[in-house]
Amino acid sequence: MSIVNARDILLEASKGKYAVGAFNVIDLIQLEGVVDAAVDRKSPVIIQTSVKPSKFLGADVPVSIYRTIAASAPVPICLHLDHCTEVAYCKKCADAGYTNIMIDASKQPFDGNISQTREVAQYSHKVGRISVEGELGTVGGVEDQIKVAEDEAQLANPNQAVEYVEATGVDIFAPAIGTAHGVYKTKNPRIDFERLGEINRRLNGKGVKTPLVVHGGTGLPEDYIKRLIEMGVAKFNVSTELKRTRIDATYEYIAANRDEYEPGQVDVAVRDATRKAVVHWIQMLGSSGKA
Ligand SMILES: [Zn+2]
Repeated sequence: MSIVNARDILLEASKGKYAVGAFNVIDLIQLEGVVDAAVDRKSPVIIQTSVKPSKFLGADVPVSIYRTIAASAPVPICLHLDHCTEVAYCKKCADAGYTNIMIDASKQPFDGNISQTREVAQYSHKVGRISVEGELGTVGGVEDQIKVAEDEAQLANPNQAVEYVEATGVDIFAPAIGTAHGVYKTKNPRIDFERLGEINRRLNGKGVKTPLVVHGGTGLPEDYIKRLIEMGVAKFNVSTELKRTRIDATYEYIAANRDEYEPGQVDVAVRDATRKAVVHWIQMLGSSGKA
């Protein structure tokens, strides 16, 4: 039961009014930090890789590490491919053993987004118990190879959201509501809560069918996070914070131990700092004790 797809844990989260964190990692050390935090807090968790680190390692490598660690972990863990714009690479990762795939065709015209998303959903569902995430509208900021200027970010239209989810067969859905990747430039980012509420009512008003996802978790104020969970969000993506944690922990360790040449100790510092950051998120999202 430790190797799971995202749909299963997010349906539970939606019903229980908590959310599950989805944390971007690029290697084994960060992955261990995330899993340590989830085990410590008895929380379900989603590990995710962007396309770049997935291609750098080769899709089979993150999958092998994930499957080895998750198989013996006492909490449910999903491995998610984040923001993949290429249908072929989505399929490759489904074949390799990722358990959730995000096809990001949100920059395509509406019809193109539907057809690409549907192709990945149908393929992934045929391969096995793999869930699929789709996005409508665009999240501001920078994610991996995708750049969107904040002023051109377009929010998801509630009518189109229903049509998109029904036509594509996606399991979980990320509507753009004003969150951004990277670091927020203001203390109070403009988030369209009403839009999210409307989309959730239309999709899940008669019982949760399609759990909702919010991208750009790093830097969102805690009261916003709580309100979004209350309104139906079941998954928060956290990438930038773990990148910063990794770089800062590495820099701080080396600066304090400049004469030591034990790379393993740098890894310990990164793993422990990652665990701490993820424990904090798990507490904010209310998923402690839900595994
Ligand atoms: Zn994202």
